[in-house]
Amino acid sequence: MIKADYVVVGAGLTGGTIARILKDHKQDVIILERKEHIAGNVYDYIHDCGVMINKYGPHYFRCGSEKIWNFLNRFTEFYNWSATLRSKVNGEYLNWPVNQDYIEKVAGTNWNLFRGEPSNFEEACLAKMPKQLYEIFIKGYTEKQWGVKATELDKELANRITINKPNVNTLTPNHRWNAIPKNGYTEMVRNIINGIELKLDFDYLKNREGIVAKKMLVFTGPIDEFFNYKYGKLNYRGQNRKIEYLHDIQQYQPCIQVNYPDSNDPRIRTIEWKHLMPDEKKDKIKGTVLTHETPFTPQNSNQYEYPFPDKYNKNLYEKYKQNADKLSNTLICGRLGEYKYYDMDQAIGRAMMLAAGILQKQNISFVNEYN
Ligand SMILES: Cc1cc2nc3c(=O)[nH]c(=O)nc-3n(C[C@H](O)[C@H](O)[C@H](O)COP(=O)(O)OP(=O)(O)OC[C@H]3O[C@@H](n4cnc5c(N)ncnc54)[C@H](O)[C@@H]3O)c2cc1C
Repeated sequence: MIKADYVVVGAGLTGGTIARILKDHKQDVIILERKEHIAGNVYDYIHDCGVMINKYGPHYFRCGSEKIWNFLNRFTEFYNWSATLRSKVNGEYLNWPVNQDYIEKVAGTNWNLFRGEPSNFEEACLAKMPKQLYEIFIKGYTEKQWGVKATELDKELANRITINKPNVNTLTPNHRWNAIPKNGYTEMVRNIINGIELKLDFDYLKNREGIVAKKMLVFTGPIDEFFNYKYGKLNYRGQNRKIEYLHDIQQYQPCIQVNYPDSNDPRIRTIEWKHLMPDEKKDKIKGTVLTHETPFTPQNSNQYEYPFPDKYNKNLYEKYKQNADKLSNTLICGRLGEYKYYDMDQAIGRAMMLAAGILQKQNISFVNEYN
């Protein structure tokens, strides 16, 4: 029998942050994690050649909130690092996101944009960029990523597509901090949960009857699985990842991530991990490590990555959420619990807010640094 005032399921950023804040306020907390490692989707490790790899896909940290930045700086130092991506088009490496200069070079200044209220992803893209650009960079990539026509996807997905200002070529130039934890994300999460009781390799859902959360259960796993898929499965996309070590090549591609928008190429992107490291460490590595990613539809909930952006899944999630809202002393949250793509800073910011809500509900006084 496991008993604690607060049982937190999941040792990712959401579970880790909530558990930390509760522990900082002298609460009795245990974390249960079904994987054999902590850090959830941001888990990283060191390849034999010395390169740091993000097991579940590349993670570029960016943040505009001083509260989130200060919170994380308790647990890790960061080095400045901004993601610069390219798309490979007809053998050429082109900047991604594209910038204003490039669009004008390719399509002039008089764009024939989609007019009216967009009803899907394709229309929303065509409302903000010339068709030529959409077809070169976005259509093939998106249809590969989701495995359906771009017209079947929600228009909100287009909010993530940005056009950079002239001469700007980084992925997230508008965030105040673009940085990577000095010793990786796993080390950062290890420090966040330091001193909190943790059980790895322990699936909460398979052991429910033996667990008592006296004050609250915080569940950061998939919401549909929590309810035993009673309304059906939420759809996700994931990536198959093939790792390749090239011992005799020092650099394979010009930047961390190269996208393949060509619909005839089954790969969606290649990551060259060295680019994510600070120069002084990078230069000591012999060879280079790549990860080739190819999208697929996972059935195993440990492989869930991107929530599917369409109406069917949105409605299905709402049904589960209504059930979750009726549960007393249970909070289902995080990227899998809320079926929502959160960037890391957003996941942490949301977790800080939820933890503040828990403290408030229990009348525990706290410094208002989390809201
Ligand atoms: C491919 C990919 C790339 C990304 N890249 C970026 C990026 O570049 N920049 C950025 O800011 N964000 C990025 N993100 C987002 C980032 O991964 C999330 O913000 C973050 O992982 C959210 O943390 P979480 O704790 O909510 O979820 P998770 O990290 O998934 O943690 C949930 C944990 O709960 C555990 N769990 C689930 N069910 C159970 C159970 N029954 N019992 C016990 N444990 C359980 C899981 O094993 C997992 O460890 C990316 C996401 C993906 C999918």
